[in-house]
Amino acid sequence: MTANAPATAGGARPASAPVNLFGLDRQQLRDAFAAMGEKPYRADQVMQWIYRRGKDSFDEMTNISKALRERMAELFEIRTPELVTEQVSQDGTRKWVLRLDGGNAIETVYIPEEGRATLCISSQVGCAMDCSFCSTAQQGLNRNMTTAEIIAQVWFAARTLGGDFQNERVISNIVFMGMGEPLANYNAVLPAIRILLDDFGFGLSKRRVTISTSGLVSFMDRLREDVDTALAVSLHAPNDALRNELVPINRKYPLAELMAACRRYTAGKDRKTHIVYEYVMLDGINDKPEHARQLAKLLAGMPAKVNLIPFNPFPGSEYRRSSRDTIQAFAEILRAKHILTTTRKTRGDDIDAACGQLVGRVQSRQKKRLRGIPVVVQ
Ligand code: SAH
Repeated sequence: MTANAPATAGGARPASAPVNLFGLDRQQLRDAFAAMGEKPYRADQVMQWIYRRGKDSFDEMTNISKALRERMAELFEIRTPELVTEQVSQDGTRKWVLRLDGGNAIETVYIPEEGRATLCISSQVGCAMDCSFCSTAQQGLNRNMTTAEIIAQVWFAARTLGGDFQNERVISNIVFMGMGEPLANYNAVLPAIRILLDDFGFGLSKRRVTISTSGLVSFMDRLREDVDTALAVSLHAPNDALRNELVPINRKYPLAELMAACRRYTAGKDRKTHIVYEYVMLDGINDKPEHARQLAKLLAGMPAKVNLIPFNPFPGSEYRRSSRDTIQAFAEILRAKHILTTTRKTRGDDIDAACGQLVGRVQSRQKKRLRGIPVVVQ
C-alpha cells in the first residue's frame, strides 16, 4: 500500500503516488480499506463498480459516502494504459498497442470466434525465455508488468468493445499468451488471475482463464497450490535434444521434469481437467512422423490435448511453416493414438497479431536473457 515516492526536502510529508486499483485483488483491497479504518466490505462494493459495471470514476460509486469517495480519490486511481494504436484484421481480430509508464508498450489481442471471444494478454515487457521461433524473444526482457498493467488490458478491452460488463460478455476467455512468460512474473500474475476469477472481479470460470508457460516447473507447482486455473504448456518438441534448441528453458527443466510437473498439476483435480500442449509446426524441424510418434508416447495416458500451431513468421525468422498436409498427417498420427488434437486457426496475421508475432515497444536494447538459461525476475 505504501507508495515509495521520495520524501520532499525540508521534512515535508512524502507525497504518495495513488495506488492503481487494477493492481489489487479482493483481499488486498480489503486490507487497504482496513488500513484506512474502513470496513473491508467496501472492497467488494468498489470491485463491483469497477469490474461488473465498468466504472472508473469514484464519483459514480453512489453506495459509498461522499467523504469516503473523496478520500479514495486521493489515495487511489483507476487508470488504464494509453492507447497507441488499434488495428483490426480482416478476420475481426483486433490488436491494441498500449503504452505503459516508462515509455514501453505492450500488445493485447482480441480474437472473436463463433460462440466465444478470447482476449490474449501480455504479462511482461518482452521476454527472457529466448525461444528461437518467437518474435517477442528477439527483444529480450525489459521488465515485468505490474498486476495493474495486466488487469488494465482486460478492462480496457471490455470497455473499448462496448457491451455490458455484467450480462453481455464481450470477452469469454482470457489467455496469458501475449508477450512474456507469465510464470516468470508470478507475483504479479497471481493476483491478476484472482481478479479474473473473482465473482466481484471479472467473474470468469476457471476453465476460461488459461496460463500458458514454456515450462517453469517450480512455478507450475506453486500455481497449482495457489489457484485453480487452466494450464497450457508450450512443448514444441518431443525430445530433449530438439527442445533444448527451440525452448532453452528445457536445459534447466528437461522433459522428464516438465512432464512430472504436468502430472502433478492435474493429479487429484476433477476428471475434465487436462493440460493443453502447444506445438508449433516448423517445416522440417519438429514436424516429421517420428516426432508425432515420440509425442504420442510422451503424452500417453496423460490428461492431454495437443494444439498444433502453424508457425507464424516474423521479420528475420529463419523457420518456415509446415505445409497443411504435413500438419494434417501429424495430427492423424496423434489421433490414432487417442490423443485429442486440434490445429490452431491462424488469426490476425495480416496485422501481426498472431501467436509469436507480438513485439510491442520494448525500450531497453540491453537484452536480459542468458545463453540457454532464461532469467526469472521476481
Ligand atoms: N511464454 C508463454 C506464452 C507465449 S505465447 C509460453 O511460452 O507459453 C503463446 C504460444 O505461442 C506459445 O505456445 C508460443 O510458443 C507460441 N509461439 C511463439 N512464437 C510463435 C510463432 N512464431 N508461431 C506460432 N506460435 C508461436
